[in-house]
Amino acid sequence: MDLYSGIINQLIEEFASLPGIGQKSAQRLAFHIVNMPKDQVDRFATVMKEAREKICYCRECFTLTDREICPICANTRRDHSTIMVVETTRDMAAYEKTAKYDGVYHVLHGAISPMLGIGPGDIRLKELIVRLEKDVSEVIIATNSTLEGETTAMYISKLIKPTGIKCTRIASGVPVGGDLEYIDEVTLLRALDGRTEL
Ligand code: ZN
Repeated sequence: MDLYSGIINQLIEEFASLPGIGQKSAQRLAFHIVNMPKDQVDRFATVMKEAREKICYCRECFTLTDREICPICANTRRDHSTIMVVETTRDMAAYEKTAKYDGVYHVLHGAISPMLGIGPGDIRLKELIVRLEKDVSEVIIATNSTLEGETTAMYISKLIKPTGIKCTRIASGVPVGGDLEYIDEVTLLRALDGRTEL
């Protein structure tokens, strides 16, 4: 039975399709939108559309950005010979928040997962290997401590070994199964400082 008018139902369904939003939250958000000032809704809709249209991958590190080269890669004061490999742009943001890491990043956009049928070709690994042809002194693998993250770390370290480039893995101060973006800055820094060579 339809409790609300078609368009409200539609709005609820759209919200409910987002990650982490259940039916109840979706209803709450939908009614919130309906009661919001019109210009605020316009702004919200415009930003959402613009973000989808303008956000692209950085040509160097493949993070999400609205420029060809992201501000981190474009920053000449950063150490471009140290590359930290992370699974997502959010993981990169977590390390950026510590303001203690001055190297650059490489965003894989996922991790290898035989269970889900995600292979090395499905994440930005080829692009990482291309970057290694430049002047790189260390690759820090900061994938999550999940099965997928560890599998990916092992895979990358095997690829890097023959190049002779130093390859390290962040310490397991990051809890097993832990998503980098939810871990506090102190733990992240400890994990980075305690990294070990693979
Ligand atoms: Zn970049």
